[in-house]
Amino acid sequence: MTPTERAEALEAIAAEVRTCTRCRLHQGRTRAVPGEGHPDTEVVFVGEGPGVNEDRAGRPFVGRAGDLLVRFLATIGWRREEVFITNVVKCRPPDNRDPEPDEIAACLPYLERQLGVLDPALIVTLGRHSMGRFIPGARIGQAHGTLHPVDPATGAGSAMVYAMYHPAAALRSTEVERQSYDDAAGIPAALLEARRRRETAIAAAAGPARPDVLEAPTFIESTPPDPAQGAPTLF
Ligand code: URA
Ligand code: SF4
Repeated sequence: MTPTERAEALEAIAAEVRTCTRCRLHQGRTRAVPGEGHPDTEVVFVGEGPGVNEDRAGRPFVGRAGDLLVRFLATIGWRREEVFITNVVKCRPPDNRDPEPDEIAACLPYLERQLGVLDPALIVTLGRHSMGRFIPGARIGQAHGTLHPVDPATGAGSAMVYAMYHPAAALRSTEVERQSYDDAAGIPAALLEARRRRETAIAAAAGPARPDVLEAPTFIESTPPDPAQGAPTLF
């Protein structure tokens, strides 16, 4: 996919989400929140669902949790415009209750299609509900700050997933906040490992015999990370 095609495909999904009535969450929403970010990014953040601010704005992570997410990103030199940010459910659950399993199931095809288009190297899950989709059976207390292969059924077969606490949990607990800054500091290494895995997989799929037919890798060729600095740049 060219960058233009990718942007158009994401916008087509977003347009469907904005008028979606596939689950009961559409009844209470002001605006659906499809997600946003750079169409050519290697990194996708997946939260739980829109809160009151997001519901009003139609954009993900624009409240206090979003401000904290932006601070986490800043510590590794990234801006929110350089990643893609979305949620497991695209409409706000009433009174910020947890999304129900049938609502998550109804909304999942949108996330899968977004991941299919974006084809990220790294998915960063924010909180339990998002983690549960990509690392079934994991417990957040143990899984946060760890990197796992992604089940191809999620739509992001060649990605790896890195789990973090939800930023809203970090707002409620200084201990979770401290842990979250540590976990954020681990994102660059997670991306480097994810890139390495992917390059190996692409090379293996292409086979050694016909290097001339090797397809262009779909991940973004960034400036190689400065080992002294450690953090890979996205663009
Ligand atoms: N919390 C989420 O999980 N997602 C948002 O978009 C905002 C807050
Ligand atoms: Fe549709 Fe998802 Fe909104 Fe439910 S939460 S109405 S499935 S967009």
